[in-house]
This record gives sequence, structure tokens and C-alpha cells, in this order.
Amino acid sequence: MDQLSNEVLYEIDGWKVTENEFDIASNQRDETIFALGNGYIGMRGNFEEGYSGPSETSLAGIYLNGFYEESPRHYSEEQYGYAQQTQTMLNVTDSKIIELYLEDEKFDLLTGELLDYQRSLDLKQGILTREVTWQSPQGKKVEIKIERLVSFSNKHLAAINYQVTPLNFSGDIRLISALDAEVTNYECEDDPRVSGDLAGQVLNLREKIIEDDFIALKQKVSSTEFDLLCGSKNELKTNNSYQLKTNTPVQKVEREYIIAAKKKVEINLTKYISYFTSRDYETDKLLDYTQDNLALAAEKKFSELKSEQHDYLKKFWAHANIEIEGDPKLQQGLRFNQFHLLQSVGRDGKTNIAAKGITGEGYEGHYFWDTEIYSLPFFLYLKPSISRKLLEFRYNILDNARKRAKTLGHDKGALYPWRTIAGDECSAYFPAGTAQYHINADIAYAIKQYVEVTEDTQFLLEFGAEMIFETARLWADLGSYIASKNNQFCLNEVTGPDEYTALVNNNYYTNAMAQLNLDYAHQVAIELKEEYPNRYQELKAELNLAEEEIDAWKKAADNMYLPYDQDLEIHQQDDSFLDKEVWDFANTPEENYPLLLNYHPLVIYRHQVLKQADLVLALFLLGDQFSLAEKKRDFDYYEAVTTHDSSLSSCIHSIIAAEIGYYEQAYDYFMETARMDLDNYHNNSQHGVHTAAMAGTWMSVVNGFAGMRVYDGELSFDPYLPEKWDSYKFKITFKGRIIEVEVKKNETTYNLLSGIEIEFKHCDQLVTLTADQKIELE
Ligand code: BGC
Repeated sequence: MDQLSNEVLYEIDGWKVTENEFDIASNQRDETIFALGNGYIGMRGNFEEGYSGPSETSLAGIYLNGFYEESPRHYSEEQYGYAQQTQTMLNVTDSKIIELYLEDEKFDLLTGELLDYQRSLDLKQGILTREVTWQSPQGKKVEIKIERLVSFSNKHLAAINYQVTPLNFSGDIRLISALDAEVTNYECEDDPRVSGDLAGQVLNLREKIIEDDFIALKQKVSSTEFDLLCGSKNELKTNNSYQLKTNTPVQKVEREYIIAAKKKVEINLTKYISYFTSRDYETDKLLDYTQDNLALAAEKKFSELKSEQHDYLKKFWAHANIEIEGDPKLQQGLRFNQFHLLQSVGRDGKTNIAAKGITGEGYEGHYFWDTEIYSLPFFLYLKPSISRKLLEFRYNILDNARKRAKTLGHDKGALYPWRTIAGDECSAYFPAGTAQYHINADIAYAIKQYVEVTEDTQFLLEFGAEMIFETARLWADLGSYIASKNNQFCLNEVTGPDEYTALVNNNYYTNAMAQLNLDYAHQVAIELKEEYPNRYQELKAELNLAEEEIDAWKKAADNMYLPYDQDLEIHQQDDSFLDKEVWDFANTPEENYPLLLNYHPLVIYRHQVLKQADLVLALFLLGDQFSLAEKKRDFDYYEAVTTHDSSLSSCIHSIIAAEIGYYEQAYDYFMETARMDLDNYHNNSQHGVHTAAMAGTWMSVVNGFAGMRVYDGELSFDPYLPEKWDSYKFKITFKGRIIEVEVKKNETTYNLLSGIEIEFKHCDQLVTLTADQKIELE
């Protein structure tokens, strides 16, 4: 846990992730690492030809963001208000299949002899390439090159280009390109972070469609009754003669090419793949859309799709690229993380970014607070239009949140689900789920950040204000003025971010974030009243909002109770945290981590032990409310009792460590985050990437080392250059400007690349940067 392994699992390269050997032992993890996605279609890196290794070493998966089945939650001692169902992101129609036969010998990495093997994910091109030289058990040699892409510019499209050349023989080669409807989700009983409640096949085959070179399968989800249409179009290019057959085994459709192959003559098959569902379109349009989309793709050809992919990424990297001189390992980790964030994020307002993206089934494809507190800032400063869509998603599920608040006994307001796909609470374990009311304030915090950084008032008027008001109402309803706490406003029986402490009174983080939520709601109400009176009246009427409520928000915020321990001079995580015994870390063997897999929750809850940053997160998000001395004392105390069993923790510790001058720790924590999946640091990357931690890497550089903060719309930096680096450079979008920041030894350069003059602080010094200006500061 403390020691980072020095073993590097993939070749170090700033723009690529490459493996030069195929290894069964790491196959399932590699499938995650080499997953492709475009925010909608997510394809794990499974092989086109299939996999004959032990089933526990592979997880074949293709997912569509937000495409789910709903199934009832079963509790043997159910209590009122428990989440009634879960929503599980579905493993959908397997479209990547291209089987290869040399006469009757099937190409399979686990038979014959692998003479050459390389798989590489190109972060600049957005292409996954596999190059293999394989010798069959009977001695036939072939060279195979497979390129795969999931289109960034067309959310419904993926494509595979498959080249095969016989090296030492002429004879029959068969390529079978198939669609397979027989797909199920993965069942994993020994890790609560993975398993859903789905058993067996729930995506049922309804129809097979075969029209010339177009084949498709129509499927329907058992309970949600969503329709899915997966189609493909195949194009064979070869100078050999061939025959074509269409096969229809039980749940499949296949196009089979029987090619009279000649030695050294290349065969090239391109497969265009498309997915459309009734979550986006009317069912009777799905077939037309699929056909049109595939016709368009085939017209463009694979080469054009490749260049579109490159163009898209060129624009992305022109802005997103963080350059670190002097540390190629980190450079790779950072870019890989940024690339996966881009691949994972839903951009349509109906979908969001799941804890594991669309790369695996961990956490059932659910969206958590991870979005607002971790991933959203990354997009906010790089592609603000995406962060807007993430918040629009919350607006689209506001009605579900209102309903949930009622179930939980709140007459007014909205309570957002701790985990969900389509808006309903899916958390079965309420102490570490529904009780995390802080998600409401996290969303409000993100809205405030979004509005301040983009100045998108339209968003506030149309969506933001309503969410801010409804979340504030919830706090007003939940809290009370407690006599024994000096009549301050208290929030009882909630769980903060740290899931190793549950159901407490006055979790500092929750109270302080709720305070911000209430205060901001009051501020927005006043602003609207003065500047947009019509909209204000409209909202008031729609929400049946009374002026007294707005005053009550302010009163609650001003009187919020924030626990502090006078003796230790630290902020208390909650009312009772310091009354507990400290966990016996010295006698906890390494293999007992993560604790959640080895101790009953009660044992954990009885101790001072943290899964993840809680109070320390407040030090970051609400940093202007704490002095540097307070930050140090709080960090020292809580760091000593934090396990970082959650992947969301290290980056936050890195940021605060950097702020208080604990540079070595800041760097070590950063390293844990930066290559978390590439080095499989949490040993569970096989279930999907850790999107929050990936975004946390970006935060660790920008907010951590460069010390960027935005408090009430004011931008500031306090840069530090880690000893091991020569320099680092990044760009941010802020209030319509693009600012480039380069940190070198003893000098920081700010360059206003676009937009008008801007003021900000550099190490407490007020700086004005004018258009096209570059300034260097010590
Ligand atoms: C963390 C939560 C997080 C969830 C999904 C859990 O392990 O404790 O804070 O939201 O993972 O990433």
C-alpha cells in the first residue's frame, strides 16, 4: 500500500500505451486498459477472434452509456424507503467478432505459436492496433493487423479494419464477421463494488435483419423494454476470389467470407458497426438510422474515419495536453487518464460519467458524486460545453430527486440519488449510500463553479437556479437549530464522503458544503429578483417558493454548526469522530486492505479510520475558509488515519500536501493517482478504469502543484515545480479566455492565448494579463 511498485506494465511512451506480449494473467486488466469509447459506445479491448482462456481471465463487454436494465432490490429485512430497484448498465450485442480460419484451424492466441505480438493504444490517433504473426498448430503462418476505433465524431459508430496475409501458404482462409445477441452481465460475488443483481440474459433477441451486406440484430430489454438495434456492414477488399455466405446460428448473424487466399496476398475486411436505442429515438426509426449511419461510414471508408478521429483528438489535445518535461512515465499516465476521461463522458445531457466509465461493470455503470467533485472540473476548464451537459443531466433527473426527498420524509426540496443511471436511487446499503446527502451540496458546488468560470447566466436561469433552490430547500428541511449546540443549525444522521464513518451528526464536510449551498441559493435568489425579475417570479410560482424560505436559507447558512476541537485545535470530522479509538494500523496486515473487504462495517465505524479524504476535501474545496496553519494541523491529524482504500482519496491529499508545503508527500500521492490504472495500483482495474481518480490527476497538477484556485470567481495560482521535473505546462479556459501556464525552475509564464484582458493572482500578487500577452514571474 505505501510502496509504489516500480514495475511498469506497459511500454513507456508519451502518446501510446503498448504491450509487446500477450499474458493470460493480465488479460482482464488489459481489456480495460485497451478499451475504446466515445462517451456513448464503450468497447473493452477483447479480441475479435474470441478467447479460449479460462473464463475468469476475460470479461467481454460492450456498453452503451446509460443503457440499462432495472431489477428489483431484494432485502430480507426491508425497511421503509429503501431503494426499490437497481439500474445496471447492460453488456450489449457483441459486434466486434471477426473469426479467422486457416482451412479448418481457428486463429486463437492460446493455440499454435505466437511469433510476434503487439497491441497499442494511440492516444493521438484514437486507434487501437494489434499486430500479430501467428503460426497455426499445423504450421501455417499469417500476419494480422487489426485497427479499431470508436468514433469521437459520430456517437453511434465504431469500426474495425482487419488485414490478414498468409505468409507461407496458399489455401482457403475464412473470415466470419458476426453479431451476437447472446450477452449477459458479469457476476462477481466476492466484491460488492462489482456485482449487480442481474442474472442471465435480459437483452432478448427479437429480430434478425439481413439485407445484402447489411446485417442487424434487434433486441429488447426485459424490464425497461428499451429497444436496441445493432447493425454492421462489412466490406472485403482482396485480389483473391471468394465466396460469401450468410449464416444464422441461434442468436447470431454471420457474414462468412471463404477466400481462395494466395501466399503473400493481403486480405482486408472492414466492419462498420452501429448502435441505436429507444432511449434516444423512437423504436420504428432505429433501423433506418442504423442503415443510414452505416452507409455514410462505408462511403467515407475506414481511412476517412481514421482522419476524423485524428482531427477530433488534435483539437482536444491542443487544449488538454499537459506537458511535463523530465518524467515520461508520468506524462504517459496523465495523457492516458485524460484520454479515458474523454472516452467515458456522456455529452448529451441524458447520460453522465460513470465511476468506471464505459470500460467495465464495476459499480454497475452508476453515476456518483464523483462527477461533480472530480470529473466535472476537468471538463469545466478544458471543454466547458461538456461540463454543462453533465449538469443538464442533473436537471433532467430533478423530478426523481424531488420524489426521493418525499420518500425520505422531506416535504420540500430534492434529494439526489447517491448512485443512479436514470435518476432513481440505486444504493442498497443506505449508510454508505443514501445517507451521503452531501451529493446535493456537491451538485450545487459544481453549478456555482460552472457559472463562475463560464459566466453562463443562461444556464443558471434555465436550469441552475432551480436545482440550487431545490437542494437548498432540502437542507432547510433536514437541519434544525439544536439547543445543546448553542442553537446552531445542525445536520444529523448523515454520512460524509468518508465511507468508513457512517451515520453521524454534523459531518464537517456536509455542513460546510450545505452552508455554501444555502448561501448560494440565497445569493442567486437576490440576483434573480433584481436582474431577472420575470424569471424569478416564474420560478417562485413554479416551485411555490415563499420569500420566508429564502430568508431561512440565509439564516441557516449563517448559523451553520461546524465542529471544532479546542484541545487538538483541529476541525472535527463530525461530532463523535474524536471519541472513537484509533484503528490499530500497526497490527493490520497488508493483505487486510481494503478494509471493506475484510471487516464488518461496525468494526470499521467504531474506529478513527478513513477510507478517503473527508475533512481534507473540505480544505481543498472550501480552502478560503481555513488558514494555512489550520490546514496543516487538520491534514496532519487526518492523514495519519486515512487508508486511501478509495481511489478518490490520494489526489486530494496530494493537492493539500502541495498547498501546505509537504512536497514529497504531494508527489507520492500524485504518483499513486497518475498511474492508478496503468500500474493497477488498486488491483481492480479489470473491472474498469477509475474515472474520478483520473480526473484527480489533472487536479493534482493544476490545483495541486500549480496551486490554482477559484474563490467566488477570482482566479489565483501559487505554482511549485516538483524536484523531479524540469517544467510543466497546461492550458485552462476561464471566463472565455484561454490561458497557458508554464512553470519552470524559479519562473512561471502566463500567456493569454485568446480573450480579453484578465486579472488574477500569482502567489498573492495581483497580475493583469492583456490580450496576446506573455508575462514571466518569479
Ligand atoms: C467511494 C465513493 C465513490 C464510489 C464510486 C467508493 O469506493 O468511497 O466515494 O463515490 O466509490 O467511485
